[in-house]
Amino acid sequence: MNKIYLGILGGGQLGSMLCMAAKKLGIYTIVWSDDPTSPAKEFSDEFIFSNYSDNEKFNYFTKKVDKITFEFENIPFDILDKLNSIKEVLPKPKVNKIIQNRILEKDFVNDQNIKTTKYKKINNKDDLISNAYLLPAMLKTATLGYDGKGQFKLNNLEDCKNVSLTKDTEYVLEKMVNLKKEISVIITRFKKDEYEIYEPFENKHEDQILRFSKIPADINKEHFSKSTEYAKKISEKLNYIGTLCVEFFIDDKNNLLVNEIAPRVHNSGHMTINSHNISQFENHIRAVCGLKKVKTLKLYNAEMTNILGNEIINYKGKKFQDNEFFFDYLKKEIKEKRKMGHFTEINKIND
Ligand code: ADP
Ligand code: MG
Repeated sequence: MNKIYLGILGGGQLGSMLCMAAKKLGIYTIVWSDDPTSPAKEFSDEFIFSNYSDNEKFNYFTKKVDKITFEFENIPFDILDKLNSIKEVLPKPKVNKIIQNRILEKDFVNDQNIKTTKYKKINNKDDLISNAYLLPAMLKTATLGYDGKGQFKLNNLEDCKNVSLTKDTEYVLEKMVNLKKEISVIITRFKKDEYEIYEPFENKHEDQILRFSKIPADINKEHFSKSTEYAKKISEKLNYIGTLCVEFFIDDKNNLLVNEIAPRVHNSGHMTINSHNISQFENHIRAVCGLKKVKTLKLYNAEMTNILGNEIINYKGKKFQDNEFFFDYLKKEIKEKRKMGHFTEINKIND
C-alpha cells in the first residue's frame, strides 16, 4: 500500500496525540496551524504555520495530503468546505456546521428525541430578561467557546443586568442542571453500523474545565446503555466518520441529558492510550484513512488527571510507577488553568 499523507488542521495536544497514533500506523502527518508555537509541531512529520486563509499554504497543503482531518472543531466552516472540495475532509465539514453552534447542536439532539438542558437563543439584554425563568442558568456564546471560555453563570436578574453582551453575537441561555454526575461516550464510526465504542467515562470538572476522568464510570446499567445507544444514534444520524464524543449530564433526578457533542477526539478519552489496545486517536486515524477496524478492547481500568498551569512543574522530572504515565504537551508558555499535560494511572480489571 502507498504511504498515506494525512493533513491535520490545528496543532494542540490532540493534534500531537493524533500524530503519535499515525506514526505507529506508518502514516505521514502534515499539521497546519495558525499558532507557530503549536505543541503538535514536535510530533508531526511536517508542520505548516500560517493563517488558514493563506492561499499559498492552502495550495501546498491540499496538493501534498491524501486526506484531511482536524483536532479543533472551531475552524471556520468555509475553510473546511473549500478544503473538502479538493481533498476529502473527515469528519465532513457539514457536521461541524451543526456542532460548532450550540443552538443548532441542541436542536439537532432534541430532533433525535434525546434530551438536553432547557435552552433559549439570546441576542440581546431584552431576550435575557424575558427568559429569566430559566435562572439560575449558564449563558454561553453560541460559537467558539471551549474550556469554559465565553461562559457566564447567571443566578438572578441582577446578574442578567450586569453581564456585558457583545453586539451581534449569538448566545444560548442554558438552565443550570443540578449535576449528580457527568459522563462522556466516545465512539469511532467507520461506516454505516460499523463502529468501535468505549465504555462511558466518568468526568469531574472544576471551573468548567475537565479535571479528572475514570473508567469504569460509577453509573447504573440504564445510564450505561442509554448513553452508548445515544452516541451510536448521533453518529449514525450525522453519517459521521472518525472519533466523536458525546458529553452527558446526569441530574439529581437521574435524567440523562446531552450536554454537547465534540466532533473529534476528546480529553476524557486520553486514558485510552494506556487502557485499551486501540486508543481513541488510533481509531480516529484508522477510520479517516480507511484502514481496517480492529476490535477495541479494554486492557485496564484507568484514571486520568489533567495537569493545569503551574502544576506541570512538579511533574517534570518526577519518577513514576510502572502503571503511571505522564504526558507533557510541551507547551512553550505556562498559563493559569491551561492544559499543560495529563497523568494516567492504569489498574487491573477486577471482575
Ligand atoms: P465547553 O465547550 O467549554 O466544554 P460545556 O458546555 O461542556 O463547555 O461546559 C463545561 C462544563 O461546565 C460542563 O462540563 C459542566 O461541568 C459545566 N456546565 C456547563 N453548562 C452547565 C449547565 N447548564 N448546568 C450545569 N453545569 C454546566
Ligand atoms: Mg464540554
